[in-house]
Amino acid sequence: MIIVLNNDASAKDAADIADMLTARGKTPRIVNGLRQPAVIANCGKNEEDKMIAEFNALKAVERIIFSSKKYQLASREFCREDSIVSIGGHKLGGNYFQIIAGPCSVENLEQMRQTAETISSCGVKLLRGGAYKPRTSPYDFQGLGEEGLEIFSQIKAEYCVSAVTEIISEQHLQKLVKSVDCLQIGSRNGQNYQLLEAIAAAGLPVILKRAMASTVEEWLSAADYLLVNGCKDVILCERGIKTFETATRNTLDLSAVVIAKKETHLPVIVDPSHAAGRVDLLLPLSRAAIAAGANGLMLEVHPKPSVALSDGGQQIPTTAFPEFVKSLEPILNAMNLICNK
Ligand code: PEP
Ligand code: MN
Repeated sequence: MIIVLNNDASAKDAADIADMLTARGKTPRIVNGLRQPAVIANCGKNEEDKMIAEFNALKAVERIIFSSKKYQLASREFCREDSIVSIGGHKLGGNYFQIIAGPCSVENLEQMRQTAETISSCGVKLLRGGAYKPRTSPYDFQGLGEEGLEIFSQIKAEYCVSAVTEIISEQHLQKLVKSVDCLQIGSRNGQNYQLLEAIAAAGLPVILKRAMASTVEEWLSAADYLLVNGCKDVILCERGIKTFETATRNTLDLSAVVIAKKETHLPVIVDPSHAAGRVDLLLPLSRAAIAAGANGLMLEVHPKPSVALSDGGQQIPTTAFPEFVKSLEPILNAMNLICNK
């Protein structure tokens, strides 16, 4: 149950309602910073009528939502309109569309300079790159760590781009908050609830990738772990799931994008790079993602993919990137999207 409060309800109003719920044996959570203040608690179906009468009578209460869904704050029942989030001042959600582009891993300053130069020349404002890499093999390149974050700080100053990078451990949070504009939860941590709770209140927007073996319901419920713990800006990212198919690295699930947009108010972006694992599929998949209603794309781009330290086969060479972005324009226009603002 979500008890949605009026926008002018005070902290005391929320605390009083939480106390009333506690007295009834519930474990309420007060939620601030989303569209409206709210108090959320798990209630059984047979308690509904009594609760509605009691809480609706309170001046601070605007409406009460009962839902049997595992996710509540992400749901359209809670917020009917699309949420628009901002990464470093660049809007995403509703009609606002962003391309997030950059290498799989931050490798060195020159590589990031060349990438930032290229993407900026195409109007793209959001630069991605992993400083801490969750690699399948412990013997593979694990990322530059702090040195990668220093590179981000320098590139941000030089090119006026905003930075998106993955967080794999709570231990890195303070340093990441100082160097980047958006945290990414990777597919391997898409259901790492402790990590989600630990980073939720850091004050940065979070891109939540769908865990590779997660259902849509599990993915959206993971978003609620962020929202209920204080994250104001959650962006969902479909990046392909494990199936029996071997022609692609993962299977891009565009129906999940459509469902996530129907079921939630959150922006949904698509990462075709990790879904396909092959550069030759990226343009048609990107165009399909836009047509399916995605609010953004995450694309791996590298100055020289053949020598990349990770994911070489799926990165767009910087030389091909301007043409790639141009080829998206007809679909972006057809969908009435405002891109890279
Ligand atoms: C990434 O974006 O760098 C990444 C590791 O992706 P995923 O978590 O989707 O595998
Ligand atoms: Mn990668």
